[in-house]
Amino acid sequence: MSEKTWGYQPRPNRPAPDWDVNPQTDAVRAGLARSGFGETSEALYLTSGFTYGSAQEAFDSFTDETDHYLYSRFHNPTVAMFEKRLAAIEGAEYCVATGSGMSAMFASIACLVSAGDRIVASAAMFSSCHVVLTEILPKWGVSVDLVKGNKKEDWAKALSAPTKVVFIETPSNPLLEIVDIQMVSDLAHKVGATVIVDNVMASPVLQRPLELGADVVMYSATKHIDGQGRVLAGAVLGSFSYIHENLIPFNRHTGPALSPFNAWVLVKSLETMEMRVRRMNDNAQAIAEFLESRAEIKSVRYPGLKSHPDYATAQKQMSGGSSTIGIEFKGSKDDAFKFMDALRIIDISNNLGDSKSLITHPSSTTHRRLAPDVQAEMGITPSVLRLSVGLEHIDDLVKDLTQALKS
Ligand SMILES: *Cc1c(COP(=O)(O)O)cnc(C)c1O
Repeated sequence: MSEKTWGYQPRPNRPAPDWDVNPQTDAVRAGLARSGFGETSEALYLTSGFTYGSAQEAFDSFTDETDHYLYSRFHNPTVAMFEKRLAAIEGAEYCVATGSGMSAMFASIACLVSAGDRIVASAAMFSSCHVVLTEILPKWGVSVDLVKGNKKEDWAKALSAPTKVVFIETPSNPLLEIVDIQMVSDLAHKVGATVIVDNVMASPVLQRPLELGADVVMYSATKHIDGQGRVLAGAVLGSFSYIHENLIPFNRHTGPALSPFNAWVLVKSLETMEMRVRRMNDNAQAIAEFLESRAEIKSVRYPGLKSHPDYATAQKQMSGGSSTIGIEFKGSKDDAFKFMDALRIIDISNNLGDSKSLITHPSSTTHRRLAPDVQAEMGITPSVLRLSVGLEHIDDLVKDLTQALKS
């Protein structure tokens, strides 16, 4: 089931294109498996189990002699459509979907490591990823060293010792720190480490880690892939051998499976993902430039601005600055709260990558779980806000921000 299915049933003899199609064409077409009814849209197979024509067929299926579906904790036709479509867009050999971004993150690492192994990770990251790496995995005898993401010397030093996994989040949540994926992958491969990239903030549209040397990419599909605030989901993409020798045996028995209903929502979301992400990115670039010109703002952190400390690396590996902006106010936490409360369109919410523009105060919400010194290390002060820019008209977003700044 690893080959790209173009799903022209019930015209099974119609050949698939014999040229390399654009990822946007894959986003609409790849993975489609039509039933005998020839439906236009992808079907929702909302079933936990499957039946067999005979006892022998069940036996053969359990010994992997057939490609008969067994049980939706292992695989499901609607989930498979989402996995094949995302793999085709990403240019990955294989994809496994999970029930949330965190289950994808945890499984992508846990399927590789044993007690005594060492992980090296970039220090600035989403708080739950930080908890997995610095609290949960160490309980099981896995050691973790964190490196300042844009310091080449620090990576070289950390990756001169034996390392099993390198985990990088770039851009980081919430302050959009950038890690040079190619540079870190080259160093990591010299010591035989597997490089996993959390590509949530960039999305498959703006950054292609596998082409930059990474081995595995993981997503919270909750963010830009759904992008419309409906479902939780995750995905892990990598080589056939990583997925089949490591991830699938781990996931089958630990059970972070994605619901077929959520997969069906996502398979349709992929069709519009590129258009949505490009527009959100254009809106975010315009808003970042607008905010940078405002006296009330101390600094704007956005990879598409020349003022970003790693602008050059962002230009090299991303095709846009992302949909998220880090904003540091001149005033106190109270001023930041007043500003949020004065917004009339942009919602206060801790999600991101959504069609609705959302703003959050990371130090009291998404990142409150982290100790004050860890927050300070990541630059998350009480006057920092994270703005996720959506699909509203840019003029209305600028008007909303302008009137809230005045208050
Ligand atoms: C949201 C997020 C996750 C976790 O995803 P969930 O779908 O919420 O479990 C992981 N990494 C990053 C960078 C995120 O923003």
